[in-house]
Amino acid sequence: VKKKAKQYEKDAKAVEQTAVLGAGIMGGGIAYQSAYKGTPILMKDIRSEAIELGLKEARKLLTKQLERGKLSQTRMAEVLGNIRPTLSYGDFGEVDLVVEAVVENPKVKGAVLTEVEANVAADTILASNTSTISIDRLAANLKRPENFCGMHFFNPVHRMPLVEVIRGAKTSDAAVAATVAYARQMGKTPIVVNDCPGFLVNRVLFPYFGGFSGLVEHGVDFERADKVMERFGWPMGPAYLLDVVGIDTAVHASEVMAEGFPDRMAHDGKSAIQIMLDNQRLGQKNGKGFYLYE
Ligand code: NAD
Repeated sequence: VKKKAKQYEKDAKAVEQTAVLGAGIMGGGIAYQSAYKGTPILMKDIRSEAIELGLKEARKLLTKQLERGKLSQTRMAEVLGNIRPTLSYGDFGEVDLVVEAVVENPKVKGAVLTEVEANVAADTILASNTSTISIDRLAANLKRPENFCGMHFFNPVHRMPLVEVIRGAKTSDAAVAATVAYARQMGKTPIVVNDCPGFLVNRVLFPYFGGFSGLVEHGVDFERADKVMERFGWPMGPAYLLDVVGIDTAVHASEVMAEGFPDRMAHDGKSAIQIMLDNQRLGQKNGKGFYLYE
């Protein structure tokens, strides 16, 4: 890290109009948080059902606050008015910064980033919310890699304070500055980190998930493992956390980590979480993962 986050912020261009690609767990959460903190955001997905779900989640969070008397009807309407759902790139020419939050697949992300680059202004910042894929790898086919960096939020977005801003080899200071500034606008604590698979947090977290998966493969009861880790002091155990993250996302991210660190992360045969994915146990997103949800 060449400069501290605060120093970058001084040179930041204003981030007034934003967009998020993907209205899933993360895209929906990013749209809500941006809107809540006053920065309008376009929320684009390829499926209208995903957009409906993203908006439903935002409404649910706001309704809870309304019922507790922490928010007025007017304020709720204002926040919802800041989220503009869309299925097209129509208004992307006006956007200062786009956060990409589509599925954790290098090919899909590569194609989506190339597509969005063709639909924005020359100085629009593109930031990927990838959990694990190296920023340089994703930047490989971009025409303006200097405008590209990572902006890695944590789940659930409205509660988790940290955002990793990942600087690739070609990322400009201006892109880092704008992304750090936007994270602060959203009420988050940005840290600027260098590029590698998994960045900082997931380089620590995924070996932990791998260790847990190995225990399950050896017959350890996942609920016991969760209870032990809670006693150890973590707010939730690894099985519950994997359900929150999404088993599909965890499997895809584990593959990227295994490619990046084959000596430490590679796995012989099918992992426990791969078997869960094969059985469509995706976690909270479809109501059944390690645990069952309503
Ligand atoms: P998700 O499966 O909930 O949502 C992905 C969304 O992307 C879906 O709604 C899908 O329709 C949409 N999509 C797919 N292709 C698209 C395209 N071409 N254009 C627009 N939308 C498209 O996944 P998620 O958990 O929100 O993860 C999204 C990204 O965020 C991944 O890169 C993931 O690694 C990262 N991430 C996830 C977590 C987590 O805990 N789930 C945490 C941090 C980062």
